[in-house]
Amino acid sequence: MQEQAEKNLEEVEGDYPGLHLVSCKDGIAVYCGRLVFTASYEGHGLVDDAFDVELELPIGGFGVVPVAREIGGRIPREPAYHINDDGTMCLGAPLEVRRKFMRDRSLRGLINLQVVPFLYGYCIKQDKDYWPFGELAHGSQGIVQYYQKIFGVKSVLSIIEFLKILVEDNYRGHLPCPCGSERRLRNCHGQQIMEMKDIQSRENYFSDFVACVRQHVNSGEGIPRRVMTKRLRVFWMRMGQEKTLFYRFFKK
Ligand SMILES: [Zn+2]
Repeated sequence: MQEQAEKNLEEVEGDYPGLHLVSCKDGIAVYCGRLVFTASYEGHGLVDDAFDVELELPIGGFGVVPVAREIGGRIPREPAYHINDDGTMCLGAPLEVRRKFMRDRSLRGLINLQVVPFLYGYCIKQDKDYWPFGELAHGSQGIVQYYQKIFGVKSVLSIIEFLKILVEDNYRGHLPCPCGSERRLRNCHGQQIMEMKDIQSRENYFSDFVACVRQHVNSGEGIPRRVMTKRLRVFWMRMGQEKTLFYRFFKK
């Protein structure tokens, strides 16, 4: 593992000589140092800057996501700057972070696909007062928006029903697609759901599911009884979520 962690560093030494390997244990390699970059995306202009960062790269293990922090004190640790409560960069919706990481599990991939775009976005926001890649809201709302985008649906209830399939691991292609197209799932969003199964675990989808349910209920909507299956309840209890929360969300 140490060897793998060092190899990852060697791959980026040419481009990012300021980074070094701090530790490597429990399947996570930690890199620290100054990340100097020049980047330009989609006509938003050139950014030439440097940030002190700490990067946690999962080595080998699956299911764990990479984490990045700006440690030089330049980016305020506030949601408005897309810094999470624990000081980590909010690199995107959890599924998206995993998706990108699965495509490229190297340190180079983490830096080029996630960290540099994040820092670039911050610089453009500071300089020109807009977010170059659009802005996902925080928390539950951000998760809902992300799924609205990838499924191409507006209805939060449709998203809840899609996620329910993934949480329950209960794909049935002959049923009507939750998007409301009146087509069967297998002829509509079915392929997408099948692909999503391999990216995150049921537990990960469960936390997104709860976020969407929360968002839906908070906007004054009810959850139909058909969503409240025994299968879901069993999984819900297993996840250690309060029983009362389940019944509060699914009253009616
Ligand atoms: Zn559909």
